[in-house]
Amino acid sequence: MRTWFRDVYRAVSTVAQGMYITLWYFFQTYKRKAFTQHYEFPELPLAVKPRYRGYHRFDLTTCIGCDKCARACPVDCIYIEKVKNPVGKGFRVNGFKIDYSKCIFCALCVDPCPVDCIFMGANYDISCFSRDGLVVDYAKLPLDVAWGHATLNPTSIAASKIVLEPVWTKPPDPPPPPKPAAAAKPAAAAKPPEGETKA
Ligand code: SF4
Ligand code: SF4
Repeated sequence: MRTWFRDVYRAVSTVAQGMYITLWYFFQTYKRKAFTQHYEFPELPLAVKPRYRGYHRFDLTTCIGCDKCARACPVDCIYIEKVKNPVGKGFRVNGFKIDYSKCIFCALCVDPCPVDCIFMGANYDISCFSRDGLVVDYAKLPLDVAWGHATLNPTSIAASKIVLEPVWTKPPDPPPPPKPAAAAKPAAAAKPPEGETKA
């Protein structure tokens, strides 16, 4: 009989202990408030540490299209579209895409840049509804967004995919150069005059 009472006491006390812990956390949730009450994302974005590696910051006006960042990337997720500059030397960068479905945020693309036009930024809000949205063309983003002063959001990313007008149109091919006269002469000499036949 004593054992039976002891077991009943143990069962009731352990259930009460468990329920106390559950209720304690239940009320603590109200006390500390939900995460979204502290950080009203996206209106009030979460502050990150200075060395946080978020989405890149890129300055198209400085980039010389040298490809060093793309070559340093261990997962080959930087795609640069460039054309030889029709005026002067160097390249014109028409596209600078980073595929964030592959990027591992290692920052290895930052150090080799000779003109310091790519950095890891503090943006982290690039959520989107398809994998296409993870490919960001920094050359088509507004400069303040690409350089990290404004936020990267799905609307901006969608805007980066709109090609309003061609960035560069291929000029018509020049006419082919005339054939050199010297090459035509021996051919004319070898040709027998009109009406003359070989014996
Ligand atoms: S952070 Fe790393 S993985 Fe991402 S683009 Fe730069 S080099 Fe490539
Ligand atoms: S290394 Fe710098 S300058 Fe060269 S292509 Fe990349 S971002 Fe542009």
